[in-house]
Amino acid sequence: MSIKVLCPNVISKIAAGEIVERPASVVKELVENSLDAGATQITVEVGGGGIGLIRVTDNGVGIPADEVELAFERHATGKITSEIDLEAVSSLGFRGEALPSIAAVAEVSMVTRYRDDVVGTAIKLENGAITSKGKQGCPRGTAVTIRDLFRNVPARLKFLKSPSTENGHISHLVTQFSLAFPEVKFNLIINGRTSFRSPGNGSLRDVLVEVYGLETAQAMLEIESSETVCPAVNGFISPSSLSRSNRNYLSFFVNRRRVQSRMLTYAVEEAYQGMLMTGKHPIVAINISLPPQEIDVNVHPTKSEIRFRSERHVFVAVQKAVRNALVGSAPLPSTRISPLPPSASTSPLFVTPPGHKATSLPQLAQKREGPESGPQLPILRVIGQFQNAYIVAEGPDGMYLIEQHAAHERVLFEKTREQQASRAIEVQGLLEPMAIEVTAQQQELLQSQQGVLYESGFYLEQFGERTYLLRSVPAVLKKQDITRVLAEILDSLGGLQKSEWQEGVAVSLACHGAIPTGQSLSFQEMEELVHQLEQTQSPRTCPHGRPTIIHINASQLERGFGRRGAHSFAMRSSTRLSSSSCFTGF
Ligand code: ADP
Ligand code: MG
Repeated sequence: MSIKVLCPNVISKIAAGEIVERPASVVKELVENSLDAGATQITVEVGGGGIGLIRVTDNGVGIPADEVELAFERHATGKITSEIDLEAVSSLGFRGEALPSIAAVAEVSMVTRYRDDVVGTAIKLENGAITSKGKQGCPRGTAVTIRDLFRNVPARLKFLKSPSTENGHISHLVTQFSLAFPEVKFNLIINGRTSFRSPGNGSLRDVLVEVYGLETAQAMLEIESSETVCPAVNGFISPSSLSRSNRNYLSFFVNRRRVQSRMLTYAVEEAYQGMLMTGKHPIVAINISLPPQEIDVNVHPTKSEIRFRSERHVFVAVQKAVRNALVGSAPLPSTRISPLPPSASTSPLFVTPPGHKATSLPQLAQKREGPESGPQLPILRVIGQFQNAYIVAEGPDGMYLIEQHAAHERVLFEKTREQQASRAIEVQGLLEPMAIEVTAQQQELLQSQQGVLYESGFYLEQFGERTYLLRSVPAVLKKQDITRVLAEILDSLGGLQKSEWQEGVAVSLACHGAIPTGQSLSFQEMEELVHQLEQTQSPRTCPHGRPTIIHINASQLERGFGRRGAHSFAMRSSTRLSSSSCFTGF
């Protein structure tokens, strides 16, 4: 195969692919440009999941008429001029790649008026080439309209998720920007409806109210490192009493640029060490400020990865700031000082979770072979409960430990799946409808998933802009915190394909409805649970795939007690003993 230089059209599409992965990437680049232009009001409009339409309008400084064309040239930027500038980037953009990249994969039109100009400029591009340009009257600032994204890149189009998933990504992104720029008024309009608005009054707590709801925002703790400390760490974190079941609520910004960093996640999780249950994660919105020379943002085309010159310094600063705020907040109830190792735990609620338990006893875990590892369970006789977490039972070949929460999850999961299949979900009406407030991102999910939620027993009616009235819940949920359960279901469905939603709801309901670890069970309850587990299709694992049951067979027990392996010696000595006693007896 002979080597040839690619034609510019292919080169620009390859480069565009690095920056414009999905509709939210376009929104990110356009909003960054608006922020760099000093805008205080930014409106994002989206239609058709961002494929049909994305429009970002700002009141920033605008682009002078004679520079408008240049803005669409590759590596044309007004933000840096030399290699030295690259050492200390203070703007969000600097690569001069976004506009030409977007123009390579979509139809773009821009109307802009520079602050000193009396009339604005309108420009249109198709396939990266200018198709029209002229003067146009417009307010100061810039409006960029993107249509038919990826029409000329069918491969990329194929990989996009549903419009509601793409809307969810955009909502998340805009809320993240609003957390980093509380002084900017953001307005997100999806399919003609306002989906999110930030007040733009400079108060981060007020933005938190819009993003996470009043109750959560009020509970959040402010963190502030002293001005003299470098890096400065500012923002809000959730108290130990407030948590979420995934890491989507961790927002980190470095010099107000949103970053994804394992190091920062780790620093925060270290600070919460011992304060949250395993599997729970905090809500944080943290900005780290440090001189631009201390970081390298030129790591990746999307600029979401950065390198710190002194990673250790940043780690310690973040961990300290978070820890100080947590320790300074209300004293922690004693039961929250766990998790301790199970033997030393003061509260059975905080024993190691089921998955860990199984792996800590690998030598006892049942091998996945032989007749016993088949789907069906043998008939078991309940002996008792251990640590309010495990049911101890006896079977045909040894002892069985059943993890009560995981086992009940399996039972409820299969029950819900059956009810879903026969469209006969058991529901429980609420005496008083419950008002539920959702985030913008959750609302997008809720709108698209309302059908599945309804089929699963959640009957919701829209009440306010982002408030819903809940009238019934699935009967498997008894006394749970329903708002939290619903929020978690929405979050978990966000990452799934539509075809997986029903199953996703069943997994969540099973998890929330199941008997918790730490609950003492009567003998009858244990027998009932074991009996129900025996009836399931896959009794050996919970819906998350963790084991429900560990088998310790008779020979493992014998070996453990030194009655096997040392067997022949034991036999010999006991023979000798008994024979000598015989002799003595004579
Ligand atoms: P970069 O942001 O990396 O400089 P872009 O391709 O995103 O590159 O934008 C090119 C240039 O166009 C910017 O440097 C800026 O001068 C100008 N520009 C783009 N969008 C706007 C906007 N909304 N307001 C003012 N100027 C803009
Ligand atoms: Mg840019």
